[in-house]
Amino acid sequence: MAQMNRRELLFAGLALPGMAGLAQSAALSDDRAATPKRFEEAAGFEVADVVSSCRLALLPLGSLEFHGPHNPLGSDSIIISGIAERVAARTGGLLFPTIRFTQCPAHTAHFRGTMSIRPEVMTMYFADVLRNVVRLGFRKIFILNGHDGNIGPGRGAIAQVADETQDAALLFVSWWEFLPGEMMKGLGMFHQANGGHGHGGPLETSAVAAFRPDLIHLDRAKDLPEPPDLSGGSPYFLQKSVAAGWPGYSGNVSEASAEKGKKIVQMSEDGIVRLVENWLKHDEVPGSW
Ligand SMILES: [Zn+2]
Repeated sequence: MAQMNRRELLFAGLALPGMAGLAQSAALSDDRAATPKRFEEAAGFEVADVVSSCRLALLPLGSLEFHGPHNPLGSDSIIISGIAERVAARTGGLLFPTIRFTQCPAHTAHFRGTMSIRPEVMTMYFADVLRNVVRLGFRKIFILNGHDGNIGPGRGAIAQVADETQDAALLFVSWWEFLPGEMMKGLGMFHQANGGHGHGGPLETSAVAAFRPDLIHLDRAKDLPEPPDLSGGSPYFLQKSVAAGWPGYSGNVSEASAEKGKKIVQMSEDGIVRLVENWLKHDEVPGSW
């Protein structure tokens, strides 16, 4: 029923200022609809069967974070839940609920609407979630991340759990890492060497629109300068504090569209599925990890 409602929403063609006409085209076609096995839907009696029949556990990480006036607070959660659903269906993974209350970086934490968990609390909390997944019987755990604030605590947590566990492997990736920079530029999106595409910018806005065009309000945001690529090609990590005057997003958001979002999300999904299949296939090779 919940799925029906979402589909109805997607097809509703609601009047969307700035996104008019995109609702219908953004809806995922039926041939791509796939139903993963969801952890929360397993009945008590079938837990053992579900665990033994699923090749891996898939745990999506989202956020509740201000993404500019034009995007929903759950942008990261919407994107990562949508991608994870399809990756789980294609790889035979057991899909766990998206973790939404997570750590947000200082530069968005002060915006009204951002819900931020302290990094040390997030690391402990996430490690406990992973311990439960391991205790269920999983030894292959795939963490699919949708939010940059999760990278530090997420890697800290998997390091802890790996240290306590035998014969387990935990794979951690962020969805935007599967988008070639040059191709993104071709779509009118910008790309920084640190992997950034601008918080709440055209890329992220498009990806949200791929799943929920009804939640985008482009008329509420004007185009802004893109953040500079500081290195000209080499990866780097830059943590910013609160900045007075920054409106909480960057880039030419008028470039955003559900059509672009569908392409971007598909590219990421395909890359992630390839990675997971290779990971599972090479599992038996000694020293492969
Ligand atoms: Zn985001």
